[in-house]
Amino acid sequence: MPERWDAIVVGAGPNGLAAACTLAHAGRSVLVLEAAARPGGGTRTEEITERGFKHDICSAIHPMGAASPFFRTIDLRPYGLEWVHPELALAHPFDDGSAMQLHHSLDATVDAMGDDGKHWRRLFQPFLDHTDALLDETLGPLRIPRRMMLMARFGLRALRSAEGLTRAMFGNPKTRAMFGGISAHALVPLHSFGTASFGLMLILAGHKAGWPAARGGSIAISDAMIAYLRERGCEVRTEHRVTSLRELPESKAVLFDLGPHQVARVAADALPLRYRNALLRWRYGPGVFKVDWALDEPIPWKNEACRRAGTVHLANTWEELAETERAVSRGEVSERPFVLVAQQSLFDDTRAPKGKHTGWAYIHVPHGSTIDATERIESQIERFAPGFRDVVRARHVIDARALEAHDENMIGGDIGGGANDLWQLVWRPMVRWDPYTTPNPSLFLCSSSTPPGGGVHGMCGWHAAQRALRGVLR
Ligand SMILES: Cc1cc2nc3c(=O)[nH]c(=O)nc-3n(C[C@H](O)[C@H](O)[C@H](O)COP(=O)(O)OP(=O)(O)OC[C@H]3O[C@@H](n4cnc5c(N)ncnc54)[C@H](O)[C@@H]3O)c2cc1C
Repeated sequence: MPERWDAIVVGAGPNGLAAACTLAHAGRSVLVLEAAARPGGGTRTEEITERGFKHDICSAIHPMGAASPFFRTIDLRPYGLEWVHPELALAHPFDDGSAMQLHHSLDATVDAMGDDGKHWRRLFQPFLDHTDALLDETLGPLRIPRRMMLMARFGLRALRSAEGLTRAMFGNPKTRAMFGGISAHALVPLHSFGTASFGLMLILAGHKAGWPAARGGSIAISDAMIAYLRERGCEVRTEHRVTSLRELPESKAVLFDLGPHQVARVAADALPLRYRNALLRWRYGPGVFKVDWALDEPIPWKNEACRRAGTVHLANTWEELAETERAVSRGEVSERPFVLVAQQSLFDDTRAPKGKHTGWAYIHVPHGSTIDATERIESQIERFAPGFRDVVRARHVIDARALEAHDENMIGGDIGGGANDLWQLVWRPMVRWDPYTTPNPSLFLCSSSTPPGGGVHGMCGWHAAQRALRGVLR
């Protein structure tokens, strides 16, 4: 007898799996088809240096996951997902040996900040009183807000550039540098409109739910979703690359955890030319270059706060940071790039053999770059942690092209599902009131190229599944 499912999800990244879990939660049968040998997309963990050292290939730290409505609705704790928290969310060290600190607690952050503490509180406290409502409103498509005043207040700040907002809010250049480093997750220069939204969202999520990692590695996030699906009779098949809708078993709905260009190709027969052309106009952004290390000891940071932080941002001053991000937009890689470091083994003892440690770091590079930036990254770490190279046992590097080979959604090494300029932040992947639906009522988009964009929060999948449940799967 031919197979028949309520829905097929193409791609088992966190958004595809979140879409499948949302449908399964509503009692629908779901088949997930994944091209790679292991499901998980950007949430895979592998022993790529030495046996016993577990490295997160892509995502590592999950403020948006811990705070997101998807993870609040679908409780994955009984399926093995445990968020583990470092003592300190983030440290941002400077050449003079000092470091700014972001704590889970707003009070602790303010206390460690000195004079800018009162400005930090004035910026975040009004939103922290309504974080769940704010996350519900912002982690989705553009729509008329239910909380008009709250969203107006937030939007006025979020639409600004990180440069403009920090100049207006903070007197201490070091506070500006820390906010800038967090905003630089946007992967666009910090004078661009909308970059403040990244800093605001990641800090708010951090004060609400911390900047945790998943115990055992990011793979635990997708493993938990898969266990949830299997318990409900759903299936995940790997090494099944979908090239055309014609090859799929029968179903009422298909949800694509794929980028817009791939959807235009795979569903060419089922979508009108005008819509496919709009998908093909989607632009991708810069890529990343990444290094993972197996370490004999923790990274020997000069500043003590860095030794307690899950994430460390190496950029020194605002000026240095802003220039490295501008360099990427010019197609260059600065000699002293902005390095994002995560040190999961400090607070998760399952990541490395007893007494040993892991290190995870990446920098922004031009789209599709094949540059080897290992030396630049390690020099930046040595700058703030002299003796770092002496504790390295083994390393594994991955450039922007290799990242695309690891996960074909990460085109040119773009980790955010597309360039994050203000236009594409709002209209993902095109100007359309409901971006998860397509002109074909059976086809839906659910990857990070839809709102709210990159990151492991499951919200693109969650929204797409809601549309299917209100439509063909009603
Ligand atoms: C180096 C790096 C660091 C990151 N750090 C963080 C972090 O710390 N925190 C965070 O929240 N996010 C982080 N991210 C971003 C995060 O990983 C992504 O935003 C997230 O994985 C996007 O999820 P997705 O489901 O939309 O797509 P993906 O995770 O890319 O999943 C898409 C899946 O679809 C599959 N696929 C593609 N084409 C086909 C096809 N034709 N047929 C079948 N299957 C197909 C792919 O193999 C893949 O498994 C990082 C990413 C990278 C690369």
